Parts: sequence; C-alpha cells; structure tokens
Amino acid sequence: MIVVMKVGSPAAEIERISKEFEDWGLSPEKIVGKHKVVIGLVGETASLDPLQIQEISPWIETVLRVEQPFKRASLEYRHGEYSEVIVNTPDGPVAVGQHHPVAVVAGPCSVENEAMIVETAKRVKAAGAKFLRGGAYKPRTSPYSFQGHGESALGLLAAAREASGLGIITEVMDAADLEKIVEVADVVQVGARNMQNFALLKKVGAQDKPVLLKRGMSCTIDEWLMAAEYIMAAGNPNVILCERGIRTFDGKYTRNTLDLSVLPVLRSLTHLPIMIDPSHGTGKSDYVPAMAAAAIAAGTDSLMIEVHPNPAKALSDGPQSLTPDKFDRLMQELSIIGKTVNRWPQAAVALA
Ligand code: PEP
Ligand code: MN
Repeated sequence: MIVVMKVGSPAAEIERISKEFEDWGLSPEKIVGKHKVVIGLVGETASLDPLQIQEISPWIETVLRVEQPFKRASLEYRHGEYSEVIVNTPDGPVAVGQHHPVAVVAGPCSVENEAMIVETAKRVKAAGAKFLRGGAYKPRTSPYSFQGHGESALGLLAAAREASGLGIITEVMDAADLEKIVEVADVVQVGARNMQNFALLKKVGAQDKPVLLKRGMSCTIDEWLMAAEYIMAAGNPNVILCERGIRTFDGKYTRNTLDLSVLPVLRSLTHLPIMIDPSHGTGKSDYVPAMAAAAIAAGTDSLMIEVHPNPAKALSDGPQSLTPDKFDRLMQELSIIGKTVNRWPQAAVALA
C-alpha cells in the first residue's frame, strides 16, 4: 500500500503519520520523489481500509494498494517515478537510470592476472566505460573448468580500480565471501545461477553496496522481480536488473536468447534500472554489436560487454569476448545511436 502525500506536505506531518503507522505495527518507508513524498507500507495491510487511512491527515492526497506481488520493486510503489542507482566509484558518483547516459560495464569474464586486468581496465575506460567487470569467483558448469582465482583476484581488481578510476563489478557466489568482495566491489553481482538463492539474496540485501541482479536463465519476469524484492526487503533499495539471455529451444547459433522485450515490459512493472548483457545473451562476439545497439535503441540504462585482450586464450567465455580494439569501434558505433536517443555522455554535455 502507498500513501501519496500532497505537494508541500510539512515534514513534521509526514513524520507524525509515519509514527502512527509504526504504532499500528507497520514499517513505513519514506520515498522522496521529484515532486511528492510517498509513504510505502509493506506488511499486514490487507485489513486496512484506504479510506480510513486517508482520514488521518488532510495532507494525504490518496491511498493506493500495490496490486503486484512484488511491492518495493514495483513501479506503483514509487507512484510511477523511476529510480536511479548511484554508484560511488573512484572517479566519482555514476548514476544508472533512465535520466542518465547509458552506463557501460566492460571487462573480462574472469580476472586472470594483474597485467590483463589492468590493461583491460585502462583500455575500456579510454573507450568510455564507467565500470570494470571481472569474476574472481566463477560459476562454471564443470567442476574441472577454471573456477576463478578467488581472493587473490580481488586484490587484482583493487589494483585495476586504483589504476583506472573505474567502478568494479564482481560476482558473489557464496555469502561467506561477501565481506571480502564488498571491500573491493562498487557493485556486487548476483549471477544468473544464483538469482533464486534466497539466502544469498537476503545477505546482499543486508549490506550497502548496490546489487546487480542477473536474470536466471529459466526465470520469469515475476520471479526475477520477486528476487529483487528479497534484496529490497532486506534493506537494500539499490538494485539493477540485468537481462543476460534465457534458455529457449534453439541453442545452436546463439548461447541464449537475449530477451530485449524485457525493456518495455520491465518499464511497465518496475522503477528499477535495467542493464542488458549481449555477451552472455548471444555467446558470440560477432553478434554483440547488433544487440548492444538494439538495447540502446530500446531504452536500456546500461550495458555489460565482455572484453579480453586475447579472447582466443581466455580462461572463460573467450568466444563472446571482444578485443579492446573491437570494443573501441563498438563504442564509437554506439555513440551514434546513444546520442540519437540522448543517452550518451557527449550528448548530455552538449545539451546542458
Ligand atoms: C558473468 O557475468 O560472467 C556470468 C557468469 O554471468 P551469468 O550469471 O549471466 O551467466
Ligand atoms: Mn562470462
């Protein structure tokens, strides 16, 4: 349920109403929008009568039930206002959301050694990326495949962060590693295979770093949003949703089916920012540029692109990784469409 306050409602009145809700055993959440304040109520609200709540203050404009099973993640919960996730990076805050330039995340699938991660960081930064990605702990189908260098790779990510000024995005697979990961990561990634690891979702929800929640490869949009709800219910509102391709009947030519229809669908359901990952989505580097361009045209807030200095020798996901040179070219191509939709850094500066 949400309580929409009138424009100009006094802070003391909002405070008083929130206190009253607390006395009723609810947990009110104040959401400050561009024009209005909304008080979100999650909990035992079924027996509450919206008309009765309306009576408790003349400053209440309206009281609405959130019909979706996901509450905090729903667009209704913010009364139709889209949210942004602000990530603190060494170079300063980067906002990911609809009113900001497309934030590009780039880097190798796995952190392999210091030279490759630092070199890749510098190259992708020069091309315009805002974040470096790279796995220290890798979810691999085979236990005999490279599992990531673990804790030592976190140190290498810290070195790349320092050398480049980029924000770091890396995956957590085991809650036991979370504390070490958040010392280095500016955004914590929950991978497709753990999207419904509810214990892990609660843990990442209980810490402060923004969370990148990848869509499970066979998960519905409702299941994905309920997974986001777990993180938000645990106290962390800063969730970015990442589409990375789903399993369909044809896996011969592409690794997954990149579901770009999530862009308009999610926009109608949730206020959360959206990232598209055409690298895992297609599994082939040749197909990445077309899908990256399509994602920008369809309104994505962010892109994740795998880049490796020598894809043929990569320890994981080489076939879908671009070389730094190809990434340079891609960024130039994307700038054209990015400027057209007014979501590219240069365009934003020109218009200011
Ligand atoms: C990754 O980002 O390298 C990764 C393993 O992604 P996903 O969880 O989408 O497969
Ligand atoms: Mn990968």
